[in-house]
Amino acid sequence: MINNHVLQHLTRISSYIRCLHTIAYAFRFATISRGGKIVDASLTPDELRHASYSIVYNIQQQSIREDFRSLQKAKPLTSHFKYLTPFLDSSSGYAPISVGGRLQDTDIPETKRHPLLLPSKAHFTWIYVRHLHLRNCHAGPKALTALIRLEYWIVNARDIARRVVRSCMACVRFKPKLENDLMGSLPPERVQSQQPFQKCGVDFCGPFNTHLPQSPI
Ligand SMILES: [Zn+2]
Repeated sequence: MINNHVLQHLTRISSYIRCLHTIAYAFRFATISRGGKIVDASLTPDELRHASYSIVYNIQQQSIREDFRSLQKAKPLTSHFKYLTPFLDSSSGYAPISVGGRLQDTDIPETKRHPLLLPSKAHFTWIYVRHLHLRNCHAGPKALTALIRLEYWIVNARDIARRVVRSCMACVRFKPKLENDLMGSLPPERVQSQQPFQKCGVDFCGPFNTHLPQSPI
């Protein structure tokens, strides 16, 4: 793994949105420094998308550099990513690794058809999944896994989704583990031998004890 000072700086940011904004403003600064003009005062969706591609590309360069080189030289991959039929997606200008999959012929958006490959151990991956969890009303692990797949392909997505839900204080607090009740003692009418229908009970809204008058048998 190689050191990347930008990614190093991003590990200090705990918000996914702030992470994107930091990189997008850095690109803005570079554009203005080169004499470029900024039309909109607030960040545009294109600028945010460009920032996310840049972050993912740098994470891939840091974590799976060997796979990058193999794909650039059109060599077969040796890592377990080879089963995902990855390829270099040059449509964004960065050429990050995207997942091939079996949805080439569908008319769904490109990000869903070929999601970007995102290593699970990166800090950015964690804050992205956490962002999805919070934005979607504290989605559970299954829903979270489905939401992740809409944009990124995270290896072991189910595992990271489970860990994010378990680490959420609100989810833990509102889903406490219930204690089992202690077993109570049965009333004497139910455990002592008697004539049939001498005493009856109906289990409806709690037991109502019914006592029949004593009659000689
Ligand atoms: Zn939660």
